[in-house]
Amino acid sequence: MKKLLLLGLMTLGISVLSACTLGTGNDGDRSITIYSERHYESDQNLFDQFEEETGVSVNVVKASADELITRLEQEGSDTEADLLLIADAGRLGRAKDMNLLQAVESALLEERIPEIYRDIDDTWFGLTKRARVIVYHPDRVSESDLSTYEALGESMWENRVVIRSSTNIYNQSMIASMLAIHEEAYVRDFVSSLVGNFARSPEGNDRDQAKAVMAGLADVAILNTYYMGKMAYSSDPFEVEVAEALRVFFPNQETTGTHVNVSAIGLTKHAKNVDDAILLMEYLAGEEAQGVFANANYEYPVNENVEAHELLSSWGDFVAQDLSLTQLGVYANEAAILMDEEGWE
Ligand code: FE
Repeated sequence: MKKLLLLGLMTLGISVLSACTLGTGNDGDRSITIYSERHYESDQNLFDQFEEETGVSVNVVKASADELITRLEQEGSDTEADLLLIADAGRLGRAKDMNLLQAVESALLEERIPEIYRDIDDTWFGLTKRARVIVYHPDRVSESDLSTYEALGESMWENRVVIRSSTNIYNQSMIASMLAIHEEAYVRDFVSSLVGNFARSPEGNDRDQAKAVMAGLADVAILNTYYMGKMAYSSDPFEVEVAEALRVFFPNQETTGTHVNVSAIGLTKHAKNVDDAILLMEYLAGEEAQGVFANANYEYPVNENVEAHELLSSWGDFVAQDLSLTQLGVYANEAAILMDEEGWE
């Protein structure tokens, strides 16, 4: 009798085990698709790690923010995309306005991401922060010469400023943030005076602006903080030299704060794999992934339990604009038009 019972339990055990194995097999088929504008290697490592931990594989489709948004719009309900990841809150705001995203209710996302770095309607969530700072050559500029973005429009900076094109989303969001804070006429004056001080017609990416300062083409540049980290730890010796020679200055500390933007993620309106997609969103906001963003890509983590990379910490704390990043989307179009009208190529 006892033997029979034991045999029965063993049989049950085996069938439970095979059900588990079957379950794992099915998990292997779980996959989500993410449309990503981000061009950083460390993201793929995070997706691989997520797959290892959850069994959900991540298909990544990369293109520019505008291409991805257009594609989502054209594909409509046929889209494969579950998630949209863009290095600019303004573009996520545009996707939201085009009704390409849906709200996500997640206690974990709310807990891990401060309110100003999430959409007011929960359609997108910031994952990493970057400050848009002034970078200068200490041989030609003293720190006491610097104060605000606006001050770079003054005559002492004539022919000394470089920054990339106005078609770039980082710049559009920076000007959008100013439109959210100031009257339009104030921002227009600033843009017009800044353009008047350009050392050259805008060309190249953020790193190229720092390199132009290094080469003596200009004395100050405006760029995102993580590029200083990427150059400091670059395999290219010239980039290391640039990062070591130049200094970072956080503008507007006594006024409106330094402009901060986020890379942010949203669940698409027609996502087919909602639960797994939200699982990835929560993973990316968690401490482990936030540590990777901080240490492999030199971005500021949004999760306040995670510390910034030591290079970023060495620059000290700074006051960021006190602005809900939802505003970047609200003023994005106005910013692009204004920059164009004021001759920012
Ligand atoms: Fe970038």
